[in-house]
Amino acid sequence: MQFEQHQDFRALVDQYPRAIMLVTNEPKITYVNGMFRSVTGYVQDEVVGRPPSVLSSGLHTPEFYQAMWQALASSGRWEGLIWNRKKNGEVYPQWLSIYPVEYEGQQSYVGIFMDMGKRTGVDERLASLAYYDPLTDLPNRSLFQEFLKARVSQHCLEGARFAVLFIDLDFFKSVNDLHGHECGDGVLKQAAMCIQSVVRKVDVVARLSGDEFAVIVELQGIEDLKEVGQRMIQAFRAPVIVGQREYFLSASIGAAVYPTHGKSGTELLQKADRAMYAAKLAGRGCYRIYSEADDERGRREQRLSEALVTSLKTSPDEFHVVYQPQYDLRSGQSVGMEALLRWNHPEFGPVSPADFVPLAERRGQIHEMTQRLVRGILKDLQSAPSAQGDFRLAINISARQITDARLGLVIGPLFERIHELGWQLEIEITETHIMHLSRQCLETLKEFRNQGVGIAIDDFGTGYSSLAYLQNLPVQVLKIDRQFISRLGSKNSDSRIVSAILGIAEALELEVVAEGIENRAQYQELRGLDCQRGQGFLMARPQPWDRVKEMILDPYQ
Ligand code: C2E
Ligand code: MG
Ligand code: MG
Repeated sequence: MQFEQHQDFRALVDQYPRAIMLVTNEPKITYVNGMFRSVTGYVQDEVVGRPPSVLSSGLHTPEFYQAMWQALASSGRWEGLIWNRKKNGEVYPQWLSIYPVEYEGQQSYVGIFMDMGKRTGVDERLASLAYYDPLTDLPNRSLFQEFLKARVSQHCLEGARFAVLFIDLDFFKSVNDLHGHECGDGVLKQAAMCIQSVVRKVDVVARLSGDEFAVIVELQGIEDLKEVGQRMIQAFRAPVIVGQREYFLSASIGAAVYPTHGKSGTELLQKADRAMYAAKLAGRGCYRIYSEADDERGRREQRLSEALVTSLKTSPDEFHVVYQPQYDLRSGQSVGMEALLRWNHPEFGPVSPADFVPLAERRGQIHEMTQRLVRGILKDLQSAPSAQGDFRLAINISARQITDARLGLVIGPLFERIHELGWQLEIEITETHIMHLSRQCLETLKEFRNQGVGIAIDDFGTGYSSLAYLQNLPVQVLKIDRQFISRLGSKNSDSRIVSAILGIAEALELEVVAEGIENRAQYQELRGLDCQRGQGFLMARPQPWDRVKEMILDPYQ
């Protein structure tokens, strides 16, 4: 059989699984195939001889069509997303490609399209992989951008607006790291459903990449946006169940409104992304509508984070370590100290670790940062006196780093040196993070402990440790968070939580360190409650090495 025969071609085109139409220069429709009918609802006789505008939704502006014809004239092709109307009146997103062709001696155009709102059948699935995310079945980034382009090119109805939401799951990486990719995939699917449950059918939800989603939300007024933001945050609060496990998700959401924050799709998505970043900075699990001030703050963070990466690589002199002594509250003797990293940048000045540690985490620089810390300590320890008894040096370790195989390598030399001095090394991990550690991480911690490294839970009381979990942790020390100590020692002193923590510690045979003791009354109250160890500005602020050596170490010896 020869394919070149006219009839064969005709059959091929007729049965092709995309809607195809032929339009003359006039423009008039001269041919439609079988799929055209399935997609649009029109049979051949109803459209042949009529202009292609019978299919229009009326939503797009004349400029949109002008740009389309211009592209056709200049590059010989147009492809994109356009909203059209079916015979039954339904408006639907159509993926349309147009090419010029010579047909029966006439200059014509072929339009090939499909309905992007509805996908059925294996074939549709295969064909749409380029536009849809196979995991969630949502439009992918490139299709979303097309949706945005098409939305921006529509007439503005009185008062109606739309917003672009940028949604990023918080801590998704740890779900993947700790429970594997299969669980991660399950969580992403649930997150997609969660987002869809909040918005309406007309709103477009897409998965941009990894744990990033985006939505085009239609608004009647700006108040609608706040409501959607709140509902979305609320929807993420409910636990999702994947396999047999419950996961507590949260999301940071940024929003940008058309046309206030941008007139093009690209600009809107970018601003929504920046607003999302502001939501992350504001503590995650919340939404932010784009604002200049947030953006400025975000840009500063961005610069700070660039500077941190550079400084860690090239300017070791900008970092040094300070030490805050810890005391036996009964005897008043110093019994150890906590090493705290300091960063002094030529442009930004002194930057608090509360600011730069999270940046280092986000930029994957936490290993390099701990390297700086350990090098700083080792340099200082060259002139350390050895000690008898139980003198401890505590360092802070980011929970992220425990999964890092290089941790042992960094800490190794420090551990040896401290051993030589007859001291003990203690690792502090914040409570909020320790709760998320996998079994493998706990094994790593156990190995450290078996080697003689002490493990402390930092900022205890701010997380959600269950007692059962605590009991199984390889931990010896609880550090009571500053906020509970600050409630002690005044007229309305509230010692209930501190007492409770002391009770838990006693039951689990753990030691306790109170942090942030700022006045005598707090000190006295802690002594009265039988708290063993403490640190705080009252006794000593974090200090440079030479000073702690002179004040603490030499006399201690
Ligand atoms: P943290 O481990 O809970 O450290 C105690 C923080 O409380 C220190 O702040 C210390 O200066 C401050 N502090 C101590 N006594 C008092 C007091 O009486 N009153 C008040 N208001 N504050 C007191 P710093 O040095 O700014 O560190 C902040 C946090 O940054 C640390 O909290 C720790 O989580 C983290 N960090 C510091 N250095 C490092 C480091 O080398 N590595 C890692 N991963 N994190 C670090
Ligand atoms: Mg600490
Ligand atoms: Mg602390």
